[in-house]
Amino acid sequence: MRNRVDKTRLRNLTSACNFDGASLNPDAVPALPRRWRRWLSRAAIVIASLVVIVAAVVGVVYMLASSSLGRTPEGARLERVKLSPQWDGESFFSGRASWSPESNPSEPSAAAAPPPSVAVVRTDPAVLETAPATGLRVTWFGHSSTLVQIDGINVLIDPFWSERASPVPGIGPRRWYAPPIALADLPKIDAVIVSHDHYDHMDAATLRALDREGIRFVVPLGAGAHLEDWAIPAGRIVELDWWQSTNVHGVRIHATPARHYSGRVEFRGNDALWVGYALVGPRNRVYYTGDTSYMPEMEEVGPRLGPFDVVLTDSGQYNPGWPDVHLGPEQAVELAAAVGAKAMMPIHWGLIRLAHHAWPEPAERTLVAAACHGVGVVIPPPGLPVEPAGNNPIQRWWPQIPWMTSTEAPVRSSRNGDGASRFQPRPCVEQPTVHPMRALTR
Ligand SMILES: [Zn+2]
Repeated sequence: MRNRVDKTRLRNLTSACNFDGASLNPDAVPALPRRWRRWLSRAAIVIASLVVIVAAVVGVVYMLASSSLGRTPEGARLERVKLSPQWDGESFFSGRASWSPESNPSEPSAAAAPPPSVAVVRTDPAVLETAPATGLRVTWFGHSSTLVQIDGINVLIDPFWSERASPVPGIGPRRWYAPPIALADLPKIDAVIVSHDHYDHMDAATLRALDREGIRFVVPLGAGAHLEDWAIPAGRIVELDWWQSTNVHGVRIHATPARHYSGRVEFRGNDALWVGYALVGPRNRVYYTGDTSYMPEMEEVGPRLGPFDVVLTDSGQYNPGWPDVHLGPEQAVELAAAVGAKAMMPIHWGLIRLAHHAWPEPAERTLVAAACHGVGVVIPPPGLPVEPAGNNPIQRWWPQIPWMTSTEAPVRSSRNGDGASRFQPRPCVEQPTVHPMRALTR
């Protein structure tokens, strides 16, 4: 009797616990509903496809970009870099920290890019083949790209002939108009000088196209590695630290201090230095600030290498939110006055959009500040050759559109990375004039 009860209990227990042998197999997983399994396998296919597509896109982008990325200095070039007073052991440093506010106080202007047409002049190659009467002729091609013909030599500054300031075709800031002259129509170039390795200044395609026997590429310390990566022979490359110089057919090219930064890829920067240049010839002298914010050390360029027949200034692509990256128009005028500029030409504007300001604002603010400081200004349209010592009346080739004054959008560099401590405006040496444009645009 007892035996029979036990068997019945066992049967009941077995059925209550649903022992069926399979549940004793540790590999067995409760089966998912078929609908879920279908969904999971589809999700896996989609994820795998996305990974393949992203990897392919990254690969293609890298392949396209790799031809212009350049490379970091190595070997003897790196050893020279390490000897620089501007090398802090890991990267280059201007000696002054940069202020980076948390928010950007300036809103993009509706007129930060121009309407489809800008009053560009087609540069006449025949004019460039003649010797300038004053020994100095400057042809600005927009942004910082400029030809300086000085005392018998032809120097190209930060030449930019590409469609975009970017390593990837079809992506990045795009030029507003075609180059005013084809590279092939330029006169024989003796030297190309590059201020730093950002894409809007060190344009790989243009530099490759300019490479030929006899030309000299003068670049900041460390940036020669990029040129070598682009198959430009080391023998044509001259790297300069601040205050070093090289001679090109009787014109001395001096690298000068600047306060900026460098880098061609996001995760790697300041491997190469950034500089301005003073071109000192037997008759004429030119100072190009390079991309820079303000620091008093730059004013030494005046007593050491000036005075200058023309000073080409970083006057555009500024913002009140990054006053330690670019000078802005007012500081540019004050620097030009301090280094003894007989004339100044605002550049780094008028070709590509890299900042929020109305695109002709640099010209208007330069004129206001120059009137205050008694500095002569030359603002030719892109492509028009001018002799700075000649008669170059200001003609507004740019449109009259609203722009912000130095009071509304001040650009004042910090002394040492603290936004509360800035270099202050210098008092006017001449009576400031209320600019007629203001009445039109308010
Ligand atoms: Zn730059």
